Amino acid sequence: MKSARNKWANVPQIPYIGRFAPSPTGPLHLGSLFTALASYLEARAQQGIWLLRIDDLDTPRNVPGAADSILRTLEAFGMTWDQEVSYQSRHLDAYLEALEVLASHDLTYHCICSRKFLAESHNSTYPNFCRDRPTPSSNDFALRIKTNMLDISFDDQLCGHISQNIGVEHGDFIIKRKDRIIAYQFAVVIDDHLQNITHVLRGADLLDSTIKQLYLHQCLNLNTPRYLHVPVLTGINGTKLSKKDHAPAVTQENSHLTLFKLLQLLQQNPPVELQNSSCEQLLQWAIKNWDVFKLSRISCIPV
Ligand code: GLU
Repeated sequence: MKSARNKWANVPQIPYIGRFAPSPTGPLHLGSLFTALASYLEARAQQGIWLLRIDDLDTPRNVPGAADSILRTLEAFGMTWDQEVSYQSRHLDAYLEALEVLASHDLTYHCICSRKFLAESHNSTYPNFCRDRPTPSSNDFALRIKTNMLDISFDDQLCGHISQNIGVEHGDFIIKRKDRIIAYQFAVVIDDHLQNITHVLRGADLLDSTIKQLYLHQCLNLNTPRYLHVPVLTGINGTKLSKKDHAPAVTQENSHLTLFKLLQLLQQNPPVELQNSSCEQLLQWAIKNWDVFKLSRISCIPV
């Protein structure tokens, strides 16, 4: 049965600005293209804007040429984005400014604890060792945000109601790493705000991060986008396909066949007659028939 929302899909409900935000740690593999496609189709089916952001702050993990390869692959599959590509590394000032705001509200502190020390202390969340220590004299510290026993909840458009206590589940977490790199959790909140993102569609492996990001929205008094987390593709060992585990890069050869397979994995049941259609024709069909709720009740998809 089609969802009510899909039935009225031609009527734009609220402005929709979505995004795909890959990290340039290697070329796109089937799993990342799956998420990109879901994000693209959802935005286009909502007659929305689809932005592309390259999350390139984690410089030690960046692979030269990966960002360009990602852009070329998306283009080869017909997934065109709106506006200029945004690169996180090009607006470091915005993060520093937001860190200042948190510091001015006494919401951050320096942490000198090493990973080894924390691993040996066997706590699931950071036990706030450094909360009341004086500012360290060396530069070798991370920046943590203070949390408290606050319940944070949200309604994921696919996964339903999610609620966690930020203090219990996450504790004071790092927003700037010891190597001076802005942590993902913090950067993504600032960027989604700067880009006026209204809807975040991404892989369910990031579901847990959402609570931290919502907490940061509250601390900075920012609007919160709506979230929709889609299942992730897994390998035969049941773990998420990832660059770290050497998932093969998607090739541009026979891109239409890969796209057809992705639409099947997205549970959209493309008609077999479309199997030899071009990427553009497949996308046209998929936008018209897109029903993200066909992905409900699936937590991961083995390929
Ligand atoms: N850059 C992150 C990644 O590649 C995704 C960020 C997000 O969608 O929030 O895993």
